[in-house]
Amino acid sequence: MATTKSSKSQKVYFFGNGKADGNRHMKDLLGGKGSGLAEMTNAGLPVPPGFTISTEVCSIYYDQKGHIPTPIDKAISENLKRLEKVASATLGSSSNPLLVSVRSGAKFSMPGMMDTILNLGLNDEAVEGFKARTKNGRFAYDSYRRFIQMFGNVVLEIPKEAFEHEFDAVKKSAGARQDTDLDEAALRQVVDRYKKVVRDRAKREFPQNPREQLQMARDAVFRSWMNPRAIEYRRIYDIPDHIGTAVNVQMMVFGNTGDRSGTGVGFTRNPATGKKEFYGEFLINAQGEDVVAGIRTPQPIRELEQVMPKAYKQLREITTRLEKHYKDVQDFEFTIQDERLFMLQTRSGKRTGYAAVVIATDLVDEKLITPKEAVLLVDPESLTQLLSPGFDPDEWKKIPTVTTGLPASPGAASGQVVFTADEAVEWTKQGKQVILVRRETVPDDIHGMFVSQGILTATGGMTSHAAVVGRQMGKPSVVGAGGLEIHDSAKVFKVGGQTVREGEFISFDGLTGEVKIARVASRPSEILQVLNKTLPPKKSDIYQRFERLLTWADKFRRLGVRANADQPDQAELAYAFGARGIGLCRTEHMFFGEGRIPIVQRMILAEKEADRRRALSELLPLQRDDFYGVFKGMHGEPVTIRTIDPPLHEFLPKREELMVDIARMEALNQKGPELDEKRRVLARVEQLHEFNPMLGHRGVRLGISYPEITEMQTRAIIEAACRCAKEGFSVVPEIMIPLVGIVKELKDQKAIVDRVAAEVMKEQGVKVKYLVGTMIEVPRGSIRADEIATEAQFFSFGTNDLTQLTFGFSRDDIGKFLRVYQDKKILEKDPFATIDTEGVGDLVRIGVERGRKTRADLKLGICGEHGGDAASVHFFHTVGLDYVSASPYRVPVARLAAAQAALATRVGD
Ligand code: PEP
Ligand code: MG
Repeated sequence: MATTKSSKSQKVYFFGNGKADGNRHMKDLLGGKGSGLAEMTNAGLPVPPGFTISTEVCSIYYDQKGHIPTPIDKAISENLKRLEKVASATLGSSSNPLLVSVRSGAKFSMPGMMDTILNLGLNDEAVEGFKARTKNGRFAYDSYRRFIQMFGNVVLEIPKEAFEHEFDAVKKSAGARQDTDLDEAALRQVVDRYKKVVRDRAKREFPQNPREQLQMARDAVFRSWMNPRAIEYRRIYDIPDHIGTAVNVQMMVFGNTGDRSGTGVGFTRNPATGKKEFYGEFLINAQGEDVVAGIRTPQPIRELEQVMPKAYKQLREITTRLEKHYKDVQDFEFTIQDERLFMLQTRSGKRTGYAAVVIATDLVDEKLITPKEAVLLVDPESLTQLLSPGFDPDEWKKIPTVTTGLPASPGAASGQVVFTADEAVEWTKQGKQVILVRRETVPDDIHGMFVSQGILTATGGMTSHAAVVGRQMGKPSVVGAGGLEIHDSAKVFKVGGQTVREGEFISFDGLTGEVKIARVASRPSEILQVLNKTLPPKKSDIYQRFERLLTWADKFRRLGVRANADQPDQAELAYAFGARGIGLCRTEHMFFGEGRIPIVQRMILAEKEADRRRALSELLPLQRDDFYGVFKGMHGEPVTIRTIDPPLHEFLPKREELMVDIARMEALNQKGPELDEKRRVLARVEQLHEFNPMLGHRGVRLGISYPEITEMQTRAIIEAACRCAKEGFSVVPEIMIPLVGIVKELKDQKAIVDRVAAEVMKEQGVKVKYLVGTMIEVPRGSIRADEIATEAQFFSFGTNDLTQLTFGFSRDDIGKFLRVYQDKKILEKDPFATIDTEGVGDLVRIGVERGRKTRADLKLGICGEHGGDAASVHFFHTVGLDYVSASPYRVPVARLAAAQAALATRVGD
C-alpha cells in the first residue's frame, strides 16, 4: 500500500442537505461512487445523506495491519453525528433509528467485486423503533433478518447456506411458498435462528452495538479490496492494487416497502449499441442489489412510466441533467421509496467499443461536447472490438434460432459449451474455444468469462453481472435467455425440446440475442469490409463514425503512426487504417515466402562465398519485387526496412528431425544422394547450433560475418526504389541495421550500404534519397547513443529486445514465471506488453537525449510491440519520439492513444 499523506488532512467527507465536502474531481480520494454522490448533492439532487471514508484510510488500514488510528475514528464519529442530525434519526435508537448502508467504491468501478452491507444499525431494540416508525412489523423484521444475514456472511464470514438453511426451515414449517408469505412472527423466528447461527459459527453474539457494527462493516469492506476476485479483476483491467477503496456510509432508503417502492439501474444511452434511448431496468418492491444480482428478471425502465409516472418523469429529468453536466453517458442507480425518488449513484457508463464510437460522435453532433472531448471519451483499446468478426448473414440464416435472450454485448461467438468458469479455463488451455453457459454469472466466474468466446445466461437483465462484465470485456454476451433450462450437475441444458451436452457447439449473436445450436463461421467486421473495399463506406454507419473520430484524433496528435508490415497487402491495410509509413519491415519474413526456403537454405549451406552469392542472386529479384510492392502499398510514405535479424539456423530443418530421418534411412539401408544431403544439412545445423540464439549470431552480427547478405538486401531495396523513381513515384527507404551496440558495427554495415547504393544508382542512372539508421535494442546502444548517432540518421527503439535484454527475461520464456511475479506483486504488468517506464523507459530516454545531442535532427521511432499499447504510447509521446509503429490492426489504437497523450489526459482518470 502507498504511504499516506499527513494524518492531519481530511479523511472523512460529508454529503447531505444540498452540500458536500467533496466533488467530481476527487475520485482518487472518494472513489467513483463517493465523488458522484458528492457532486449530485452539490447539484441539489435528491441524494440520501451520508459520508465517505477516503481511500487513504484504506491504505492506512493495510499499512497499520488493520488498525485505524483514533483521530480517524473520531472523525467518523463526528460525521455520524452530523448524519444523525441531517437525517433526524439516531443510530440504534429504539424510537427513531437511523439505518445506513456501508458500501465500497474505488476510483475505477469494479462491479460486484467488493462487499456491501445494508440495513446497518438494526439491533433488538432498534428493530422495534423501526417497526413503530414504519408501522410495518413484517418489513422491520424482514430488514433485520436481511441485515444479520449480510453482516454474518460478509463480516463474520459465515457461509450464506447456513442462513438459507434456517430460512427454508421456517418457510417450511409456516407452509410458505414464497419468501413474502412469511409474516412478522415467522420473521422473528428467522431472526432468532440467525442469531444462533452467528453464535454457533462465529463463536460470538451478533453485535448489538451499532457503532461496533459500523466499525466491523467498514473494516470488512476494506478487507474485500484484497479478496481473490477483486485482485483478479484488477489484474485483468490493469487497476493498480495500491489505490484502495473508499467506504460510503449512507442513510438507507427502501425500495422494498411495498408496491409504491422500487429500485433500479439505468443508462442515459444504450451501452451496447450507443443508441440514444433511455435504457435500464427496475424491480418493484425490491432492495438494492436485487437488480444487479440477476436473480429476478427485472422490467424495462420504460415501464416505470406507467407504474409511477411522476417518479419516472423526475428520473428522466435528473439523468438528462447529469449527462449534460458530466458530458458523458451516465450509469445511474436509484431507489423509489413510497413514490419518492432518490439517486444513489451516477458515473460514466461502461460501454462497448461500438457504443463508445457511436456515443462520442453523437454527442459532438448534439453539440454537447467538442471533437477534442470526443477524442478523450473513447478508450483506444476498445476500438479493437470494432474490428472483430461477425457471422456471415447467409450462413446464420440457414440455422434455426432455438431461443433469443437479451443482446447484452455485441459480437459473434461460437464455441463448445462449458458450464463452469473453471472448465472454461481448463478447456481453453487445451486449445478449445468455449462458450460459458450459466444460469447467471457471479463475480467469482470472472476468470472463466475472460477466456470464453462468449457468455450465455438464462436469467438476469441487461445490467446483470454477465451483461456488465461481458460488455466491459468486449465479450459477446447474451443474457436472460429464459428458454434455457440448465442442469449443471448433469452438464446439459435443454432448449426448445433439444438437449445440449457439454462440449457441443453453439453460437450466438450478441447484437440480436439469437442462440443457435451449431458452429457458425464468422466474417470480418464492417469496418474491415469497407477498408478491403467489399462494402462502400456510405453503406456503413459505424465506419463513417470510426473514420470521423480518428480524423479528429489525427488533428491533435504530435506522434506519427506507422505500421510494422512486410507484405504489400499488409502495407495497404495499414495505410487504410491510417498508418503513414512503415516503421519495421522484417525482411527475414520475406525469406519464408513461398518457394524461397530452398534458396535460403542453399545460401546458408554454401561453403564457399561464390556459392553463397549465387543463392543470394536468386533471392535478389524476389526481395526487390517485395520491396517494390511494399513501397507501392505505402503510397510513397517512408518505409523502414531492416536487414536480416534472426540466426541462420532458424531457416534450416530441426536438428532432431534430421537425426530421426537419418537414423531411419540408415536402418532401412537407403544409401544415396538424399542421405548424403541430410547428413550435410545436419553437419551445418550442428555447426550453427547455439546455446542461446537470442544472444547469439543474429542481427548486425550476421551482416558483419556475411557482408554479401547486406549487399544483396541493399541492392534489392535501392533497385526497387529506382524502379519507383523511374515510374515517377518517389520513395525514401530507410535502411535499418538491427541489434547494434557498438558504433563500429554500424560503421561497417553503413559502408556496405553506401557503396552498394552508389553502384546501383550509377547502373540505373537514377538518384534516390535513402537513410541509414539503426535499431536501439541492446542496452549498450542506448548508453552509447551519442556515439552511434554519429553514424545513424535515425533510431528505432526495438523495445521487444530492449525489454528482454534490460530485464534479462527471455521473450519466449517469461510466461513460465510472469504470473507468479504478478501474484507476488513483483511486477504489476507484463513488461513485454506495456513498457516498463522506469527501467526500459529510462534507457529509451537516455537514447533519445544522447542521440539528439549528437544529431539534433535524428529521426526517432519505436517499432517494438509496445507501439500499439495505449499506455506505452503515452510514454513515447512524453519522451519525445517522432513516431510509433504498431501492427496494422493496432494502428487505430495508436492514433487515438497518441491524440490522448497529446491532450495530456488519460481515459478513466
Ligand atoms: C524489437 O526487438 O523490439 C523488434 C521490433 O524486433 P524483433 O521483434 O523483430 O526482434
Ligand atoms: Mg529485435
